[in-house]
Amino acid sequence: MSKPRYLTKSRFKLGIECPTKLFYTAKKKYLDKKMDDSFLAALAEGGYQVGELAKYYYPNGHDITTLDYEEAEKQTNELLKQDNVIIYEPAIRFNNLFIRIDVLVKKGNHFDLIEVKAKSFDSESEDPFLNKNGTIKSTWKPYLYDIAFQKHVLASAFPSSTINSYLMMADKTATCETDGLNQKFQIVRDESNRKGIKVSNTLNEDDLKSKLLVQVSVEDEIELIYDGKDSKESSEKNFFENIEFLAKKYENDEKIETPIGAKCGGCEFKCSPENETQGFKNGFKECWTNALKWENKDFDEANVLDIWSFRRKQNLIEEGKIKVSDIEESDISPSPDKKSGISSSERQWLQIEKYQNNDRTPFFDAWGMNEEFKKFKYPLHFIDFETSAVAIPFNKGRRPYEGIAFQFSHHVVHKDGTVEHVGQYLNTERGAFPNYDFIRELKKQLENDDGTIFRYAPHENTYLNLIYRQLNADTDEISDRDELCEFIKSITKSVSSSSEKWEGERCMVDMWELVKRYYYDPYTDGSNSIKYVLPAILNSSKFLRDKYSKPIYGSSSGVKSLNFENWQWINMDGDFVVDPYKILPKMFQDTSEKNLTLLTDEDELANGGAALTAYGKLQFSEISDYEKGELTQALLKYCELDTLAMVMIFEAWREMIKEELNGKAAA
Ligand code: SF4
Repeated sequence: MSKPRYLTKSRFKLGIECPTKLFYTAKKKYLDKKMDDSFLAALAEGGYQVGELAKYYYPNGHDITTLDYEEAEKQTNELLKQDNVIIYEPAIRFNNLFIRIDVLVKKGNHFDLIEVKAKSFDSESEDPFLNKNGTIKSTWKPYLYDIAFQKHVLASAFPSSTINSYLMMADKTATCETDGLNQKFQIVRDESNRKGIKVSNTLNEDDLKSKLLVQVSVEDEIELIYDGKDSKESSEKNFFENIEFLAKKYENDEKIETPIGAKCGGCEFKCSPENETQGFKNGFKECWTNALKWENKDFDEANVLDIWSFRRKQNLIEEGKIKVSDIEESDISPSPDKKSGISSSERQWLQIEKYQNNDRTPFFDAWGMNEEFKKFKYPLHFIDFETSAVAIPFNKGRRPYEGIAFQFSHHVVHKDGTVEHVGQYLNTERGAFPNYDFIRELKKQLENDDGTIFRYAPHENTYLNLIYRQLNADTDEISDRDELCEFIKSITKSVSSSSEKWEGERCMVDMWELVKRYYYDPYTDGSNSIKYVLPAILNSSKFLRDKYSKPIYGSSSGVKSLNFENWQWINMDGDFVVDPYKILPKMFQDTSEKNLTLLTDEDELANGGAALTAYGKLQFSEISDYEKGELTQALLKYCELDTLAMVMIFEAWREMIKEELNGKAAA
């Protein structure tokens, strides 16, 4: 018998984002990228932990664990025969609508409906959900629509009952009063590979004394949604008509055709040509084929969604200018700004022009970059941080979602061109709050000279500002507090939210900004992320290909490395260099250890989401020494590649400047 096609809360959320998605969801033949996203997976794991903690705020409830719709509904109805009862994950159905409520408290004829979210909430904020004009803030809309939907289903199933609805979220003003709380909510998999939480039997009253989760009534906001006053935009259907419409279409498995738009850029049902060759269907392609009557070959061409940081995508789509080849200069109006290098609009037009002229060569403003290079002081330092922010803190005294800086890597380039991986830090000590040791170690490694320090993107500056605030707010005795704070100020600039303003005399240089102003490679497809820039520059730079195609990395006569030995970074796949992140050594290759129940699902660690999941697992006490060793090695290698990537980009630029300037001089 086929599964009933109910509109659940996650499907309703999807239908609100784009009704067409309801047709693609949960069909194996349509690839869903969200299922494969390691950052989302890490967030989901935080969600499980918060969900489990919430149950302790409503003790002695009954847990409905079965996934079977009918069975869950049957068990729920049986429990609801009691006058007073608390149920976790009860299944409530009304016609073709079906919900599982996080926590349901029944008192006679009244229900408290509690939706638990691993989202941070400022309980001291005055009006967190509403804009000044009384409409709902777009960031809160998905959460409030979700609970409004649940209340509707519950009220429809029990029309004579009264209901109060609440969101329960991580209170960022609360403080954790015990050490190791996060580690007591361990993520595990059951026999059917389903993720869940195993709560340690060491969880005690002290752990639960300070409430990390706050419960907020959202009745007023739900009322706004029901009355159609939550937004200034008018819509054809009201909230209830929309639910009915989506549910009917989903039940009949009918596709709802919606206009294509800028929203399609992030569609999870878009897959790569390789995925299509593997037999997957491409939902994005279906929508665009239907709307534009495109053929397969049209998808090989760049379209407006590919233009970097372009705000007028929706306008151009509405004007029918979909392909990059159709875009004219007047659509972009490129113009310089007051800074050196190219402005955002000039960069967008550069991307378009290069595409239209079929010019795949990189753009490099050697003269402009040379002016920047002249400001750099050797030895040059390249640093990168790995950080984590979890809902349930690892450490006493910390708040939900308070940032943890658990790792950095540090490369140096000397004036004579020598490259060295000189330093790193990784906290592997369970339960330790690493931020102060992290900054002590960073200071130790950077204070020996006054060479320029490079970061890639604002993250490092943001985290150093955070540690500065943590140091200042900490009531414990910290003997070197002043020195650490002074050091931070010397290499950072204050973030916009800081009341104290500064810009350090050795303020870090952001290579991401240098990329945006002076360098563009068509092979990055318009992305400035280091994960795109690195493979592109490895392909275009003869210097890098020559240098790193030999196993010199981590060899005594080559580049000094703390984690690699005789490693060769350049491997070719046809004419292209294989992405170095894809050739990082895999974990768990020791087959003699395979009988261990590994906590980790993946055998590779090649992005930031996987890194922070790995750190979370290192904090669990049940982890085996083998697994701890493998995760530690993988984290060290991954982070080392991040700073090596920065070094490689720097080296390629340096050589490009030499070529350009020497060429001009010779001419
Ligand atoms: S491609 Fe666009 S229209 Fe189609 S499902 Fe995705 S977001 Fe919706």
